[in-house]
Amino acid sequence: MNITDLTVHDLQEKLKSKEITVTEIIDAYCDRIKEKEPEVEAFVTTYLEKAKAQAKEIDEMRNKEEITGEFAGIPIGIKDNICMKGTKTTCSSKMLENFVAPYDATVIEKLKAENIISLGKLNMDEFAMGSSTETSYFKKTKNPWNLNKVPGGSSGGTAAAVAANLIPWGLGSDTGGSIRQPASLCGVVGLKPTYGLVSRYGLVAFASSLDQIGPITKDVRDNAMLLNLIAGKDEKDTTSEDAGKIDYTKALKNDVKGMKIGVPKEFFGEGINQEVKTKLKEAIEIYKELGTEVEEFSLDIAQYALATYYIIACAEASSNLGRFDGIRYGYRTSEYTNLKDIYRKSRSEGFGEEVKRRIILGTYVLSSGYYDAYYKKAQQVRTLVSNEFSKAFEKYDVILTPTSPTVAFNIGEKSNNPMEMYLADICTVSINIAGVPAISIPCGVDKQGMPIGMQLIGDRFQEETILNAAYTFEQKIKFRENYQPRFVK
Ligand code: GLN
Repeated sequence: MNITDLTVHDLQEKLKSKEITVTEIIDAYCDRIKEKEPEVEAFVTTYLEKAKAQAKEIDEMRNKEEITGEFAGIPIGIKDNICMKGTKTTCSSKMLENFVAPYDATVIEKLKAENIISLGKLNMDEFAMGSSTETSYFKKTKNPWNLNKVPGGSSGGTAAAVAANLIPWGLGSDTGGSIRQPASLCGVVGLKPTYGLVSRYGLVAFASSLDQIGPITKDVRDNAMLLNLIAGKDEKDTTSEDAGKIDYTKALKNDVKGMKIGVPKEFFGEGINQEVKTKLKEAIEIYKELGTEVEEFSLDIAQYALATYYIIACAEASSNLGRFDGIRYGYRTSEYTNLKDIYRKSRSEGFGEEVKRRIILGTYVLSSGYYDAYYKKAQQVRTLVSNEFSKAFEKYDVILTPTSPTVAFNIGEKSNNPMEMYLADICTVSINIAGVPAISIPCGVDKQGMPIGMQLIGDRFQEETILNAAYTFEQKIKFRENYQPRFVK
């Protein structure tokens, strides 16, 4: 048995039956990280020694039955934009290279309450802006299926670490696709919850009206379990909502008979790779065999989603990132003559190119002369997008699309062309604009053996429906049993 191959629900069973100890689990992960991290480069920071010490303590407590929690001793990895008290939270930026979080994010508090052990913080695009993890100030994470390719982004570190068995599961954040797109490119499962289901307290804000934290896991059951742990209303996040106490694993029925699936034709048009389309069409046939009713429909408004997203996301980012000025937060330049000089130099030296591009774009669309033409217009289109989704969900339980227009691309292939990079989000951004939940699961591989992801979108707070749809498909095709990352060089 290879411990790092196991899902979290497998680990739990083996811990319960005393077949393995927490120390054995943590040791196995530390060895795996030592072996594979130099190739994959998924982590910004690791806490391996600390994790080993925690494992010993938890084993002792488990033996004395002082801890009976189902998750005590299970390891996890966290995207480096989620605050963990006393540890660095860098957002993969020079700006926050030395920032030590003074408090725990609500999701971290919840994981700590379960005695879950963090193995480290994971690489990402700088301030979560990007689709390839290449804008990280520190390193370029590699895709475990082929080390010449990107893992997707911005939660590329988390997705690559799960795919490479460096962690059994992890947390990412998704503003326009940053959980689902890297999950798709790395052949793992990623869920963006309904806006408001998971507290954003302690998540470094990119675009507050779009950001959500969510689980990246090896399979759908683990995904539902991690969602159970992090969901819930939080007084510290006024946009969080009370959806009631739900056990998402209970939704996994392995039965989709009678489910109505809508397939928007706009997501199968120009710009979507042929092999991706073919695989998705096969997936649709599988759903029909499983007893669902599938119908094509038009989600015409989706064509405006990308432009709307980049206006709203940049506007909010320009405001959220105002606090990083070398005085209130972040890197301070070493030589300066006056206050303005501190601001200018600190921000020029501390932020990378993509972040600056977004701040400038955002400031522009919010400026008095252009506010109505861009920002206000984008907000109006946002309402239309949201309404179109609501209308679609009157007819369908689930909307099915590709997650990404292509499989993982080569490192460096798009990094000099922002427009090309933005197009990587074409299938995911409308979901954040509408605030609805969506999950990406692997549905096969292309001719070169790279994973292809399918996105299942649900109505607000209908996570149970999309998790069940994903689970039933997963049980049928058994992706993990048939395909594993090969670390092609
Ligand atoms: N790739 C998108 C962007 O660069 C989405 C990022 C995200 O979801 N954090 O804005």
